[in-house]
Amino acid sequence: MNGASSLLAPIAKRLAGKVALITGGASGIGESTARLFAEHGAKVIIADIQDELGFSVCQDKSINGDISYVHCDVTSESDVENAVNTAVSKHGKLDIMFNNAGHIGQIHENIVALEQKDYKRVFDVNVLGSFLGAKHAAKVMIPAKRGTILFTASSVTQSQGMASHTYTASKHAVVGLTKNLCVELGQYGIRVNCISPHSVVTPMLLKSIGIDKEKAEEIVSSAANLKGAVLEGGDLAEAALFLASEESKYVSGLNLVVDGGYSTTNIALP
Ligand code: NAD
Repeated sequence: MNGASSLLAPIAKRLAGKVALITGGASGIGESTARLFAEHGAKVIIADIQDELGFSVCQDKSINGDISYVHCDVTSESDVENAVNTAVSKHGKLDIMFNNAGHIGQIHENIVALEQKDYKRVFDVNVLGSFLGAKHAAKVMIPAKRGTILFTASSVTQSQGMASHTYTASKHAVVGLTKNLCVELGQYGIRVNCISPHSVVTPMLLKSIGIDKEKAEEIVSSAANLKGAVLEGGDLAEAALFLASEESKYVSGLNLVVDGGYSTTNIALP
């Protein structure tokens, strides 16, 4: 077999037969990813704390695929374990664990005024939540000797961050977790990667910088070096699809930066 014939043929359904669990799947990047994964044939479970929103995604008749919802606060080990068990009992296995739920806390933090409880909340959702998701996914993926674990980090791991020490530190921790788990889990055929977006126009971004969508898009596009770059949830979903699919079968330990070239500029968001 020569190199060319061993290349994967283009397939319409890139996740056919796969089972995916997506935390923070009721909104933004997670929701877009849930929709895209389902359209590519995966059976998707979204896990979130926004139950009404989560159920409404599942009931959306425009989605051509299988999406269900489970309540899960990623800072609760029993909730995370239950979400993984729900995926396995419903669909018999877990192939893709996307630890995407996140909390930004306050931007423009003042280190002197920063309260430990606020620091802890960001770390609990972003770092502890990612760890718990990876742990309980690994429990079922190790015996199966296959699987893909994804995290959502941030472009703050690449360049000047927003003035949020807590969020920046927490997302560096997510990249560290990705690299370490890649080493530990590779022996079982489990790949571990993360995605680092920059300023995706989602509820989290708009709430954190307190401006409307149009203004956010204007700022975001001027901060990127790629003309017109205004990232949406779907752009990150495409990156997640690549990392979840067989097309990236030898990619592990990667922090895939999806930022329209923002990290190469020196322009900070307000
Ligand atoms: P979003 O607010 O649209 O979605 C985040 C989801 O996470 C929400 O549905 C929320 O309910 C859920 N969530 C929050 N805390 C949770 C908890 N304890 N347990 C379970 N679910 C919880 O925001 P988004 O922009 O789609 O964020 C997704 C990820 O992307 C986050 O990890 C975020 O830090 C990261 N990120 C976002 C941007 C951006 O500009 N939007 C940039 C870099 C990184």
